[in-house]
Amino acid sequence: MIKGVARKYFEGKTCIFCDSYGLYRLADKRVKCKNCKKYYSLRKLKRDMLILYYFYLELSARKASKELNLDYSTIQSRFMKFRKLIADYCNSEANKLNGELELDESYFGGKRKGNRGRGANNKAIAFGILERRGKVYTVIVPNASASTLMNEIKNKTSKGSVFYTDGWRSYASLEQYGKHNIIKHHEDQFASGRNHINGIEGFWSYAKEKSTKLIIPST
Ligand SMILES: [Zn+2]
Repeated sequence: MIKGVARKYFEGKTCIFCDSYGLYRLADKRVKCKNCKKYYSLRKLKRDMLILYYFYLELSARKASKELNLDYSTIQSRFMKFRKLIADYCNSEANKLNGELELDESYFGGKRKGNRGRGANNKAIAFGILERRGKVYTVIVPNASASTLMNEIKNKTSKGSVFYTDGWRSYASLEQYGKHNIIKHHEDQFASGRNHINGIEGFWSYAKEKSTKLIIPST
């Protein structure tokens, strides 16, 4: 029953953590990955996958323990772990933004007006994702690089969303997560229909007005 995609892991040739090829055999019969250096027991891996398979078949822990000739408590604790992982996954997916999303970064603080803000010194960089007719997610990021922004996008948005951004190069590989519409501001000042990021830009100007009033007392 253990075959297909799982085979490469059970044969002990591919690492279950980093998916790279090449494992050492240790004297205690465990395997160690040449790449990520983690080690684990193939015997336990097979056992856990069998438990997972019985869980998938919706057998009771009692019945699975009989069939597999394993402790009831072992099966029970694994089943609980699987349920928790499923619940955690569902929660994290449910909290992801989806549908039509406007993405943009903005620069807060600092006295001088930078060129275009990106990479501006002494400014906090906020990255925002606005879900049309939904929520806004914002986070302070260390920089506006592709790896930073794409990581946020990966964690906070559902695959298959429709993305709207400006032409900033960090968004260039967004196609991998869904449809990517790039808005060319200056040529398309009065962008009509859906092709705009007015929502997130409006949010930034609102946030700035508020934060200015809060942080800098008027004289
Ligand atoms: Zn590895």
